[in-house]
Order: sequence, then C-alpha cells, then structure tokens
Amino acid sequence: MNQPRRPFRINVGFLINQPIGFSREIPFSLEAYQFPNGGKTETLSGTITLIRTQTGIQAVMDFSALVDAQCVRCLEGFKQPLHTNFQELYTFSLESISEDEETIPEDGYLDFEEAINDYIFLEYPINPLCKPDCRGLCMICGQNLNIGPCEHIANKATE
Ligand SMILES: [Zn+2]
Ligand SMILES: [Zn+2]
Repeated sequence: MNQPRRPFRINVGFLINQPIGFSREIPFSLEAYQFPNGGKTETLSGTITLIRTQTGIQAVMDFSALVDAQCVRCLEGFKQPLHTNFQELYTFSLESISEDEETIPEDGYLDFEEAINDYIFLEYPINPLCKPDCRGLCMICGQNLNIGPCEHIANKATE
C-alpha cells in the first residue's frame, strides 16, 4: 500500500520558545491508512492541535475514520464511521512531573500514531450495525430482510 511513512511523527521542538497558550493546528487527511501495529482505516482525517503549556505541550487529537465492518444482524459488509477526541500531556523537563505526562525526547520528535490507533479503535462498536434499524436475516431462509420480506415474514404478517 502506498501511504506516507509515520505521518504522525511530529517535531514539537519549535514550541519550546513559544509563549504559554500558543497553539498550532496540524490537519491530516489520509486515504486507506494501515496502522503499522494495528487497524486499517478506509479514510482517516482530523487534526492534532499542539498547545504550549507551562512545562511542555498539550496535544489535542480529533480524528474521524471509516473502517470495514460487518453487520451483526444482516452480515453485510459496510463502512463503520469512528470518531475520537482525546488529549495527551508532554513535558520538556527530563523527568515527568506527573504520571500522565510523558517526556519529550531530546530530538523533539513525538509520534502520535499509536495513541491515535488505540483511541480510534476504542470507538469500534461491540455489535456493529449497518444502520440502526437493520432488519437482519430471516431465521428460516436467510433472506436479507433489508432487501425485502421473504415468504416466512410475509406469512407471519398475515397470520
Ligand atoms: Zn445490517
Ligand atoms: Zn424466510
């Protein structure tokens, strides 16, 4: 697959000399992105907003994706939309001050890929449905009832 290599690896070093509250929004729009250690998306778009804090940066990630899914009722394949919004804290100091802060490496590069992969697939439903009112399959003949009723359903309706 032809895709950018490590697109979510960003040099955040430029933020160290910026005033507290300075922010920079980085937009992403990718087609068919395969996370190296995880899931595959049909489309993946969103933003990483980097905000200078007192000790480092706050990264706010907002991403939407479409992923291949199979409906649990009618068993048809469909594109499941996923959306996630989360944030991470990073510090420029050598030791992180709190447990939920990560240290920014000396070269200034942070790779947000793993976090985006984890968070976006957390949104994947346990029971994906092609549409909320999917009619599913006939228990007797297996007809996809979204396409139309089968004789069993029709009979039931007239009983
Ligand atoms: Zn369905
Ligand atoms: Zn039937």
